[in-house]
Amino acid sequence: MNINSIELFFLLLSVFVLTTIGLTVPTRGRLLLKMVSEDVLASSSQTPEKTTYNVPKPKPAYYPHKGSPLYADRELYSAIAEAPKTLVEQHLCAPRSGIAVVIPAKSVFRITTPEGPQVCDLNIWNLHNPRERFWAARTRQLHSAHVSTYDRLWSNLPFLRPLVTITADTLSARHDEWGGRVHDTLGTRCDPYVDKLISGEDNDLHCHSNLTRAILPHGLTEFDVHDVLNVFQVTGLNEYDQYFMEACPATNKDYFELFAEQDLLVAISACPGGDLSQWGWGEDSDNLEGSKMVDCCRPLGIDVYKLDNEEKILEKWEAPKVVNYKGNHGLKGPSNSENRRDVSIEGALDQNI
Ligand SMILES: [Zn+2]
Repeated sequence: MNINSIELFFLLLSVFVLTTIGLTVPTRGRLLLKMVSEDVLASSSQTPEKTTYNVPKPKPAYYPHKGSPLYADRELYSAIAEAPKTLVEQHLCAPRSGIAVVIPAKSVFRITTPEGPQVCDLNIWNLHNPRERFWAARTRQLHSAHVSTYDRLWSNLPFLRPLVTITADTLSARHDEWGGRVHDTLGTRCDPYVDKLISGEDNDLHCHSNLTRAILPHGLTEFDVHDVLNVFQVTGLNEYDQYFMEACPATNKDYFELFAEQDLLVAISACPGGDLSQWGWGEDSDNLEGSKMVDCCRPLGIDVYKLDNEEKILEKWEAPKVVNYKGNHGLKGPSNSENRRDVSIEGALDQNI
């Protein structure tokens, strides 16, 4: 049979298309990652071009300057960071797993990377009332999208007070050429639902699942898992305003240190994506660049310290109070609105709900 060059072209094209489909159907996750090209970037609703509208440069909305209730007293928190303290507990979080630890108020605790780079997904609750928990979005507004020393991790409404204040950060102020910064409030935990949505696979290896299992013994459930602080994770927004992640730069000497402003339940997940140098959707996205995602996974640690001279060091420290909002959201009822508020907030605190 004679075939001309056009027929040959279409024949080769068909073979290529069929081969490509055949190879990629079981590895959608891998395919999706390899498709990260200009086509994918251009699918963003956002444009990389900037337009001049002659508006003045905007100021930060909530800048926590000295004297502001948002501002952590640097003298006090430097003193806490430098004060002699005794290691009272040490916890190891195995690779690709999660742990939950009770941390008393006025403790200092460090999240560590004892064997090198590893991303940590962090959740925090008020130990006595888990309805009060870390609020990543408000923290992002009050401080910055990435956090470091002297920033605080704030709780949700109707509480709005610091759960912790960051006292030391060995990776602080890292800002790379792509705009990547470390310790991120932009993203959230990896979870099996988005993985299934994208890869079609049922995969149990996720921070959401690690955190869920870790908190069950403390009487909490999947519904208590919330948006995380991604500790040791480098992220940013590209020119199309799209979220990106880079490989974790932590070494076995690095740590992220926090002062507990309240009695806390703290849960961490050693992300099954490891140091994020080889991540992908679905476990079959292994070997993205010649090595497996599991080979990039390492443990995390939590070291808990008690200040040796707590009373003296914390002379100027006050336990944070819930915001004293006296209104009732504009609701008018037959009963005194102030009393109703007291029941709804203080009652919740007392009754541990
Ligand atoms: Zn994760």
